[in-house]
Amino acid sequence: MRFIFVVSMDFHKDFEAVIGLEIHIQLQTLSKAFSGDSTEYGGMPNTQVSPISLGHPGALPMHNHGAIEMSMKMGIALNCDITRVNRYSRKNYFYADLPKGYQITQFDTPLCTSGVVPIKLKDGTEKSIRLTRIHMEEDTGKSMHDQDMYDTLVDYNRAGTPLIEVVSEPDIKSGDEAYAFVTEIRRLVRYLDICDGNMEEGSLRCDANISVMPKGSKTFGTKVEVKNMNSISNVKRAIDFEIQRQIELILAGGKVDGETRGFNGLAGTTFSMRKKEAVNDYRYFPEPDLPPTLVTDEMLAEVKSKMPELPRVLYDRFTKTYGLSEYDASVLVDDKYSALYFEKMATLCHNYKAISNWVTVTIRGYLNENALTIQEFPLEPEQITEIISLIDSGTITHSIASQKLFPELIKHPTKGAKTLVEELNLSTNSDSSFIEELVDQVLAEFPEKVQEYQSGKKGLLGMFVGEVMKRSKGKADPKITNQLVANKLG
Ligand code: ADP
Ligand code: MG
Repeated sequence: MRFIFVVSMDFHKDFEAVIGLEIHIQLQTLSKAFSGDSTEYGGMPNTQVSPISLGHPGALPMHNHGAIEMSMKMGIALNCDITRVNRYSRKNYFYADLPKGYQITQFDTPLCTSGVVPIKLKDGTEKSIRLTRIHMEEDTGKSMHDQDMYDTLVDYNRAGTPLIEVVSEPDIKSGDEAYAFVTEIRRLVRYLDICDGNMEEGSLRCDANISVMPKGSKTFGTKVEVKNMNSISNVKRAIDFEIQRQIELILAGGKVDGETRGFNGLAGTTFSMRKKEAVNDYRYFPEPDLPPTLVTDEMLAEVKSKMPELPRVLYDRFTKTYGLSEYDASVLVDDKYSALYFEKMATLCHNYKAISNWVTVTIRGYLNENALTIQEFPLEPEQITEIISLIDSGTITHSIASQKLFPELIKHPTKGAKTLVEELNLSTNSDSSFIEELVDQVLAEFPEKVQEYQSGKKGLLGMFVGEVMKRSKGKADPKITNQLVANKLG
């Protein structure tokens, strides 16, 4: 039987959602977790596979210490307890993309336990999402269902790539909170240089467990697991859809089935993939071919010493030491390399607000237009601070600097800002009689506006100044212009 049932959103206030996320993060090591096979993305299928990745009899895995170190960094960054004796287990199941018939994973001794992910909510408040665990494991191969008319093809290149899985407690309440959570995880893995965070290519993958229950209830509803969201906004969309679907189902007298669902990004809907009839029995048993990893105090100290500053620390310094607004600071620390670029400039120039604007507005605008990252930006921090000091000393105006000098300097980076200002005759014109002439022109052109101004609409001052600047091609000294306009208007 099918229901077509329209429910008003009002009913939704009687329910609340419970959400826990499981995030798989592919670690950026050059070789796999237990073999020397390359982990490079995009190679010819089945060329990065050794007998170890394929689980041939007698093949012996070995630890990749780089992967363990990266995993520890994530745990330290999230204030987790780091497990000292790490054992490995085999998780057995049959699937075409799993050549060995089992995955090596951490079962009863996850590397990291507890820990929290702080997220910022839309209203500016903070909330902490608790972590259940972070454990190390290896990735499977990849089935490709759309490459051949009749058969599913399989590529084992990915099999054995080191992963960590971050599992949250069911503390998340909405699609927006999930969005903030995944965004924070992605920002961290990028800061730590342990993963590129690319969800389209699958180096970061998120499964969302979602249930609903009557508001205030202590008993969770049956959860549904949604997979295949290839962007953070799709994680939010899938969750929002699923919450609505479950509530409507319950209101229509139905009951939520424990199942795995996929997400259709075009339709914005989820669809059933498989029912969870019983608890899977993976017959976990200790991996006999790998010794446990022992984490010592010395190892912990060494890994800590290699960690970069985290975004929260930068944020605190940007707001407290440099006096940036919360907004400016959070835009800057969203991207590690923008934050580093800002800090290099801050050692050369103390007009922090101006530096921040150059990074977040002018430079970012240029990068977006040209599809570049700030690591590919052709100008050195010194060259931008030189522009700022030319503005601050009154040599050029801000609009000349950003619209003329900046693009010219990108074309001729070796010439230097000062030379270009001379060559292109960009200096500010502070000749009062030149500016006065332009002011007269503008006032003559807008007699009605002049009247409005004189009858009290003082906000029009900026418009007159803007018109004068335009006519001077951005070169009129803004201070003198302001004074002259104000004087003339009386
Ligand atoms: P499973 O054994 O099915 O994998 P787990 O207990 O390991 O389930 O939990 C997996 C994820 O699901 C965790 O992120 C957890 O927070 C979340 N979760 C558990 N129960 C619920 C629930 N009733 N509703 C929503 N999420 C849940
Ligand atoms: Mg589980």
